[in-house]
Amino acid sequence: MRFPKGHRLLHLVLNKDSLTGYRERVKLLNQYILPLILLALLFTFFLFRNSDEIDASAYFAFFLFAALSLCGVLLFRLAQERTARKSAESNARVHAARLSNIYNSGIIGLLYTRFDGVITEANDVFLDMIGYSRSDLEQGLISWADMTPPEYKEISELALVQLREKGACEPFTKEYRRKDGGRVYVLLASSLLTKGDHAEILTYAIDITNLKESEKREQALGLKIRHQQEEMFRVLNEAPVAIVIRKGPELAIEYANQTALNYTPFDRAQAAGTSVDAFHQRLKTGVDITPLKNVYLTGKAVKGKALPVKYDRDGRGNLTEGWFDYVWEPTFAEEGNVTGVATFTFEVTDLMHANARLKANEQHFRFIADAIPHKMWTSGADGVATYYNQGWMEYLQETDIGQLRAKAWEAVHPDELDYVTAQWSSTVGKGEDMEMEHRLCRHDGVYQWHLTRVCACKDENGQVTMYVGSSTNIHEQKTAAIALRLSNEKKDEFLGVATHELRTPITSMKASLQSLERAALAGTGPDKALSLVSLANRQVNKLTGIVNDLTDVSKIQSGKLQLNKSVFTLSDSVKELIADFELQKTDCSFVIQAGDELPVNADKIRIDQVISNLISNAVKYSPSNATISILVETTQNRTVCSVTDEGIGIPEELQPFIFDRFFRVHPSSQMFSGLGLGLFISSEIVKQHGGSMEVQSQEGKGSCFSFALPISDL
Ligand code: ADP
Repeated sequence: MRFPKGHRLLHLVLNKDSLTGYRERVKLLNQYILPLILLALLFTFFLFRNSDEIDASAYFAFFLFAALSLCGVLLFRLAQERTARKSAESNARVHAARLSNIYNSGIIGLLYTRFDGVITEANDVFLDMIGYSRSDLEQGLISWADMTPPEYKEISELALVQLREKGACEPFTKEYRRKDGGRVYVLLASSLLTKGDHAEILTYAIDITNLKESEKREQALGLKIRHQQEEMFRVLNEAPVAIVIRKGPELAIEYANQTALNYTPFDRAQAAGTSVDAFHQRLKTGVDITPLKNVYLTGKAVKGKALPVKYDRDGRGNLTEGWFDYVWEPTFAEEGNVTGVATFTFEVTDLMHANARLKANEQHFRFIADAIPHKMWTSGADGVATYYNQGWMEYLQETDIGQLRAKAWEAVHPDELDYVTAQWSSTVGKGEDMEMEHRLCRHDGVYQWHLTRVCACKDENGQVTMYVGSSTNIHEQKTAAIALRLSNEKKDEFLGVATHELRTPITSMKASLQSLERAALAGTGPDKALSLVSLANRQVNKLTGIVNDLTDVSKIQSGKLQLNKSVFTLSDSVKELIADFELQKTDCSFVIQAGDELPVNADKIRIDQVISNLISNAVKYSPSNATISILVETTQNRTVCSVTDEGIGIPEELQPFIFDRFFRVHPSSQMFSGLGLGLFISSEIVKQHGGSMEVQSQEGKGSCFSFALPISDL
């Protein structure tokens, strides 16, 4: 914007400056030069009048000189006037240029107003500020009084008073209502240009809306920061951790939150400024605070767990015991040097007590777990064992947990390993309880049946936290159950076999008697009758044998088996019995091997029954023309009789049951008659003599049954 040509501001400045210069110069002329000229003229006039020789030409010359002097003075004054005017104009142009710069600066609004509010002139900056156009201005539509909101009336009145009294008012801020209804913040200052009712006021206005906005924002920000600080301190104050901020080499308390104060007899005011030494002395902690001081000296943080502290909480001398986790952090100034130490202390006393209780419970559990005969273990949710009780350690003869983990799995019987592995995987996968029966190998290699139960322990969210397992030795029950099952099977078989065994000789005997009857009626010769009678006799003997066996079983079970002991040698019995067998014309051959032998004191009839049973079994379960060896010898105060055959043998897994009642390897076989009582009766007879009986056999290769009796001490 250009400064308008012929603007009255320029005239005003010019006039003002020229007037001032003119007045000064007239004053100078009036005060000094004119009186001097007049004095000179008066002096000359009196000089001429007192002279006798003065004529008309002299008067003329005098008046000419006076006229010329006045003209000179006037010319001098005019020249001076011109110079002064030029100087004033030059000054005015400089002022005008400066004012023009302000006017055209685009920053400062300038306006000419009157006391009644009328704005007579304004630059574009001001018009932009208030949103009015130049045409609005020219139509006289703009009034600062109308634009001033009511809340600024007072300050505006004050400015007007200052203007009236001092010709200027101090800068002040207010708002103007813009044409569009918005508001603009302005910094105003005014000076009076003319006086009177229509006095003109020059006002400058600077738009400080942005400044005010940023001031407002700053204020809002400051308020927010204050709120946040207050909130932070409130949170810190109520935090369940004791926070203390200490400053300076004395580590004097600058801030302590309420939780920290609760551990002391101090209130906030008493705590403030207390040095770390004084603090610990007052609380009688006895804690070595050197490490805390070192944090200040080194600038390095320190943290620790479960520090036991006794302290005088209420200041009455009663020491409270507690455990604390702590973090000591150095605080730094902007330059980086350490200014103090902030301590964060968490009380973990409850946790320590809970841990102690847990430990006691664990010891209690371990004590119980070790006291019971069962094998117990625990594992994490991942299935990895964490504990084995005494029962396991004894069973596997191992105490190392790592070894136990491996050995417990190795102990599972190979036949059940797949089953046990599948069951355990399923349990861990689903987090379910489980129960299974399997065999476990004892440290001495013996497998025993166990019932294993696994219980999945879960938290309140149903997540498995651990598994607890127990393996109970059920070997006796299991083998008893097997034995019972086998025994029942044997009983059923016995009934079938007994029926068969009894019917066969009876049928045969009946047939013989009928034939004998027919022979008697027909008068057939005695030879035929004799053979029929002997056949019937053999069947009767067989029946007698069966009945005897059953009677013996009954006696054994009721403990009524009587022994009539005498001293004799086993080899003598063997020889007599072999002779009987040979009389029966068996197709087997017998070999008697006699070693060093000492006599026994036993019931000869019963021992003969044992030897006879072993030899007849050897014959029965051997092929034709087989050789049966009988050895009698005395070793270690026992005389042993062994009967070895080359027969069908006995499968290894059935050998443990061979001396059981009614047990037969081939129960339903019609090929071998028998009730499965002979070996049972024999082993019982031997046992009653304080001896023992055993078998060694290989299926398809033959068997060796032997019994040992104590030698006679008579
Ligand atoms: P049994 O009357 O059935 O022979 P035992 O008690 O004498 O009754 O024998 C029981 C079972 O033992 C027999 O059924 C048979 O299967 C088996 N046994 C006994 N001795 C022998 C042997 N020497 N060779 C093979 N198997 C035998």
